[in-house]
Formats: sequence, C-alpha cells, structure tokens
Amino acid sequence: MKDDCLFCQIAKGKIPSTTVYEDRHFRVFLDVNPASKGHCLIVPKEHFDNVYDLDAETAGKLFSLATCIARAMCDALGCDGLNIVQNNGKIAGQTVFHFHLHLIPRYEGDGVNVTWTPHESTSEELEKIRAAIRKEI
Ligand code: AMP
Ligand code: ZN
Repeated sequence: MKDDCLFCQIAKGKIPSTTVYEDRHFRVFLDVNPASKGHCLIVPKEHFDNVYDLDAETAGKLFSLATCIARAMCDALGCDGLNIVQNNGKIAGQTVFHFHLHLIPRYEGDGVNVTWTPHESTSEELEKIRAAIRKEI
C-alpha cells in the first residue's frame, strides 16, 4: 500500500467510497465524477501503477470480476451499451496512478465520447509494427 495513493486509501476503506462490491482483492465503487449514470471503477487492493505492472493472476481475476459487474450494471441500470476503458500514462488520460478499470454505461444520446478518428495505414506499416510487437511477446 502506498500511503500517498488515493486509490490505495479508498481500496483499503481508509477513505470512503460508494462501494458496490468488495472482496479480498478488489473494491468496485462509483466514480465521483461519472462520465454517465452508474460509471463504476474496479480497483485492485494491491497497488499497481498501471497495466504494465499488473500480474497475470490479478489480471485474470479482474476481468472475470468485470464481466460479473458489467452484467449487474446492465440489469440494474438498463443501459443501452457499456464501454470498458483503462488509461495508462498521462497522455492516455490517466489521472490516478493506481491501476483501475472504468465501466461506463452508455445510453442513447448520452454524449459520452470514447471514440477516435481512424487513420489510413499500409500493409507494409502494419507488418513492420506486427513484427516489432511480436518480438517482445
Ligand atoms: P483515470 O483518469 O483513468 O486515472 O481515472 C480516474 C478516475 O477516478 C476519474 O474518472 C475520477 O473521476 C475518479 N476519481 C477521482 N477521485 C475519486 C474518488 N475520491 N472517488 C471516486 N472516484 C474518484
Ligand atoms: Zn495505490
């Protein structure tokens, strides 16, 4: 636990949150400034800065929990869709540097924007990038 980390404090219950679920490994609570009604955050109790830090076991448990929470949100909120978002690094929009998953319910006409502009690419470019990533796996 990092004493100066907001989500460590929330995850351990030292700072209050609107918790919808908690177990030994995770706390799920409502985002205090939601993108839409019912926006939830899934936060591991152990501190990880970002996705690069996360161990495989935690990652597996986390996504399994995410499917369960997503279904519960869908049933409870009657949303029309749901985005799962996870930001790593300032440039990617990360503001709290303790790994967390956003579950953002979507409603017709909600104005939430998690899309991007698609760019053109060549097959040579794609192949070069594929090979570079493949080498590191
Ligand atoms: P990110 O920008 O991906 O790091 O997401 C951080 C999220 O944490 C933002 O959506 C904030 O609204 C949310 N947040 C910050 N402080 C709190 C808090 N005390 N309780 C609940 N959510 C928070
Ligand atoms: Zn932390």
